[in-house]
Amino acid sequence: MKSLWLYPLSLSCLFAGTALAQLERPMEPQPDLVQGLAIENTASRSIPSDAIVLFDGTNLDAWQRTSDGEPARWRIDEDVMTVERGMGTIKTKQRFGDIQLHLEWRPSSVIEGEGQSRGNSGVFLHSLFELQILDSWENPTYINGQAGSIYLQYPPLVNASKPPGQWQSYDIVFKAPVYIDNALSEPARITVLQNGVLVQDNVELLGATFTPTPEYGVLCATYSEPNVFQDCSGKMPLVLQDHGQVVSFRNIWIREL
Ligand code: MG
Repeated sequence: MKSLWLYPLSLSCLFAGTALAQLERPMEPQPDLVQGLAIENTASRSIPSDAIVLFDGTNLDAWQRTSDGEPARWRIDEDVMTVERGMGTIKTKQRFGDIQLHLEWRPSSVIEGEGQSRGNSGVFLHSLFELQILDSWENPTYINGQAGSIYLQYPPLVNASKPPGQWQSYDIVFKAPVYIDNALSEPARITVLQNGVLVQDNVELLGATFTPTPEYGVLCATYSEPNVFQDCSGKMPLVLQDHGQVVSFRNIWIREL
């Protein structure tokens, strides 16, 4: 069975007509194109004083392979880490609840494939909710699957993407789901700026990305996806996706809220 971390859902055939199914939305109307802030060609080393550094260009010590917990083996060149096909999705060793997250990412300048097959990766907040990474420069796809989307749930407010080969940034505020008496009390919420431009405005996440319908597991229980469960602590690792395409990352730091 293909790993659901590696291959995101395309369920329109399986679940057509199911009201709660996570479905691809049409390509039109495409979100307006907005030119965001310039991202420096070199990674800034200036970070908040209470930030936890997850990648500073030197090593992958904060990360491990999601599938088996072995050391992460993404390639590191010149302060940049790069995922290529087969290197495997990775997760942080540390678990987090509410966070502020900064990361910089860059789809390959070599254009290969189209739609979801061009520069696809993703940030899984709390291991469960995918903020899509994609080369969305002149690369139409379903709008709730492009860069800046909460995959299959919310398209970005605008398309703030840059051309392939250019660095882009995500600044994220994520509020983890709250559980009371082992039942969901408050769903997760997320705000995202892409290249300094608001693309998600405190939206309520409908549930986990990888399940056929948006799903919240009971605390300490497994989801319908058998290898993932809602950790009893309420904290979960941050995950970066290997979707089989070349995407680079740098300057990743996080603040616990
Ligand atoms: Mg993805």
